[in-house]
Parts: sequence; C-alpha cells; structure tokens
Amino acid sequence: MWRVWAALLLELLEYNGSIKMHDGKQGQKDAYELVLDAIDTGLYLPGERLVESELAERFGVSRTPIREALQRLETQSLLRREGRSLIVASLDHNQLAELYAVRAELEGLAAQLAAQHAGAEEIRVLREMVENDRNLLDQPEALARANRRFHRQLHLASHNRYLVQQLDLVHRSMALLVATSLSAEGRSSKAVDEHDAIVTAIEARDGGAAGRALRTHISMAFETRLKLNSTQE
Ligand SMILES: [Zn+2]
Repeated sequence: MWRVWAALLLELLEYNGSIKMHDGKQGQKDAYELVLDAIDTGLYLPGERLVESELAERFGVSRTPIREALQRLETQSLLRREGRSLIVASLDHNQLAELYAVRAELEGLAAQLAAQHAGAEEIRVLREMVENDRNLLDQPEALARANRRFHRQLHLASHNRYLVQQLDLVHRSMALLVATSLSAEGRSSKAVDEHDAIVTAIEARDGGAAGRALRTHISMAFETRLKLNSTQE
C-alpha cells in the first residue's frame, strides 16, 4: 500500500503549483516516456534488467537523460534495485488489489463527472470508440491499446485536471501488469459491452449510473486478472 501511495504523494509534490494542461496532443517523447512506454507495451517485462547503454542505443538518445529517466522510475517504484542493476518491478497480490481499488473509485468519479461535463463531441468520440472496438474482439493486443485510449478519453471527458493526473499515476502502475486481462477467454466482448454501458449512461447524462457502470467494469477486469494470475502460477 505504502509504495503506491508514496509514489502518488511524491508525484503530487512534484506537480505542486505546476498543473499541466492536458490537451491530448502528443509532442516529442522524452527519455522517461520512451522507457515507460516500453514497459507499458511489454517490451520490457517485470523482472527484466534495464541497461542504460542498451536503452540509449535503442531509443537513439544519450545516456544522461536515460539515467535520469531510470532514477525517476525507481523513485516511482516502477523499477527496483538489485545490486547495481535496475529491474522492472512486479506487483504482488496485495498491490494488485490496492491498485484496482484506487482505480475503480477514481475512474468511477471520472465517469460520473464525464456524464455531467463532457461535450457532445467528446461523447460521440467515446461512442465511436466502442463501436470500433467490436471489430477488434479477436485481437487482444490491439484491443488493449484501444482500451487504454478509451479510458484516457474518458478521463479527459471528466474535465478535472487533478483527477486526470491521479489517473495517469494509476495507469502508470498498471504498466507493470504483464498480460492484458483482455486476452482471457470471452473477456474481450464482455469488456466492450461494459464500455457500451458506461457510454450509454454518459449519453443519458446519468452520473450515478456512469460511475456504477465504470466500477463494475473495473471489478470485472480485476476478477479476470485474478483468474489469469492463478492459471499462470
Ligand atoms: Zn476498459
């Protein structure tokens, strides 16, 4: 618990007084984002060692920003030290439960606020995403990427920057989960149906229903994750 919260607190302190606007535009990625993305997309898996010189070569950046990125990721508990090496951290059972609990509440709030504040265009984008996802049901990796975009879009639709920041932190820790829960048998179509229910509630401007639909979605994802883990161990 303390590790997740310590990371949250640290980030809050870091951001104190310097709230960034989230306009959805992606600029040039810095070394930190490159390494984080690589962990998020499973290029580097939990337990794997990260070597400064290899990362610098892979991403075509010099070693100093890579070193700084690794230090930052270590502070945020995404990497852990083992002797002189930095290893991609893994989440234990308790951390997983803690992470999903925070995610369910924060995202539930985001869905509730989105129902109240999202513009008509934003809601149409969410609806379009759900419909497009129905074509990806047999492609878990593509669906996982689409899922991240859907959730990100939903966060932004809340129109609450502090909440968006907190959700960014939660999703950063989600990068440590090895396989997508969407790869589980039968999960992908259920997940898209759950997204559909969330968007339907937002379209109806029903904040309570949107929050509940979102929390149900996260709870189902967590259940799937637990089953997936128990078959792998
Ligand atoms: Zn989802």
